[in-house]
Amino acid sequence: MTYNANEFDAKEVVGNDRNHVWHHITQHKPFEENDPMVIVKGEGMRVWDAKGNEYLDAVSGAVWTVNVGYGRTEIADAVRDQLVTMNYFAQTAGNVPAAQFAEKLIDKMPGMSRVYYSNSGSEANEKAFKIVRQIAEKKYGGKKHKVLFRERDYHGTTITALSATGQYERKNQYGPFTPGFVEVPHCCEYRAQDDADTENYGVWAADQIEKVILAEGADTVGALCLEPITAGGGVIEPPQGYWDRVQEICKKYDILLHIDEVVCGLGRTGKWFGYQHYGVKPDMVTMAKGVASGYAAISCTVTTEEVFNMFKDPEDARMDYFRDISTFGGCTAGPAAALVNMEIIENENLLDNVVEQGEYLRGRLNQLMEKYDVIGDVRGKGLFAGFELVKDRVTKEPVDETLPIQIGAHCMQNGVIIGRTNRSFKEYNNTVCLSPALIATQADIDKIVDAIDNALAELAPNA
Ligand code: PMP
Repeated sequence: MTYNANEFDAKEVVGNDRNHVWHHITQHKPFEENDPMVIVKGEGMRVWDAKGNEYLDAVSGAVWTVNVGYGRTEIADAVRDQLVTMNYFAQTAGNVPAAQFAEKLIDKMPGMSRVYYSNSGSEANEKAFKIVRQIAEKKYGGKKHKVLFRERDYHGTTITALSATGQYERKNQYGPFTPGFVEVPHCCEYRAQDDADTENYGVWAADQIEKVILAEGADTVGALCLEPITAGGGVIEPPQGYWDRVQEICKKYDILLHIDEVVCGLGRTGKWFGYQHYGVKPDMVTMAKGVASGYAAISCTVTTEEVFNMFKDPEDARMDYFRDISTFGGCTAGPAAALVNMEIIENENLLDNVVEQGEYLRGRLNQLMEKYDVIGDVRGKGLFAGFELVKDRVTKEPVDETLPIQIGAHCMQNGVIIGRTNRSFKEYNNTVCLSPALIATQADIDKIVDAIDNALAELAPNA
């Protein structure tokens, strides 16, 4: 059989999917009555399903991934050329696109130096955790091995990445977890903790991290892992003062700062990386989704030269290099796609577009908030936005979890795909998320927000 992406029997494909594919993070019971959605084509910001329905995708492949949009033949061509020239050799040796992309990437990340390739965000984070543990072994007799993570942040699906995740709804039922991962309080100003200093919330929230460090013992804490803007946990940007204090704390206790850019990386927030908005100087940065916009699997764990150098020390034979391998990491379709992906972001000035359209998007969402009391808070940066749904703006009681699902279904019926968080703050499913491709135009944003407006008019009009 020769596979051809354009020749298939749609009915047969949907049947095969229904009978044999286990969809991700999806309840399958409804498929006994309704066909599963099978996406067969993408072009720019739009996708089509097997039944011929067209959708404007406001979440870049459901999970904020397709940063440069669908149907980029220039990426596909580069990947094809690469595969017929050299498809695979392990990263025990170098290859052309991996070397070229590493250089280009480091150029965008002043202060960073080395790229370790793998295949997914979870895996990239696992590499960072292993780096922390090996440094702990090497320098601190194994003691300084703990990793702190923040409530509401997500770092991945494997058991250890999940152990480092602060979302109850994702962790529930999957324990026991890997030891050595410790949660610090969230930094969501809208949901400020009862005892918080709301005047200086950013600094207060960072100070809570210090309290955890002191309770655990600073000599046991090796790293602090944070999303620059919490993504799936509700699109939460820490307010002013947070990052300066976080950096002070890391420095004071000799703790590595690991920034998870799996969602924010590669332009989503209007800079190459989310941390670059806040003057943060990380020791490690992980990234995945937007690195190749979903044209091939690739993730990176990027470190400073200082971190890398700890693995060159010949004095301890056990620890003289990083004893890790990822069979498919960095080989070769991923970095080839990533090179062209980055070139597109540069050549089409997409970072500027993200800033401009991001402001427009947030402006329109703020207008919706004036119109509908059910919107309690509008958040985000660049083409990355979320709004939280509440029953009452004063009490901030979350809406029932069916409402965001209904809003999503209503938008879908009107040809727009939006996203939502699973649950927030241990209660309800209450943040609607938007992350359109970085190529979004004002007309695209209007169509997205109009679809939400229509949904809210029907499902949550003011009393
Ligand atoms: N970190 C963050 C911030 C994420 O949002 C995700 C995925 N949603 C991951 C890590 C894990 O990435 P992956 O699904 O590629 O393993």
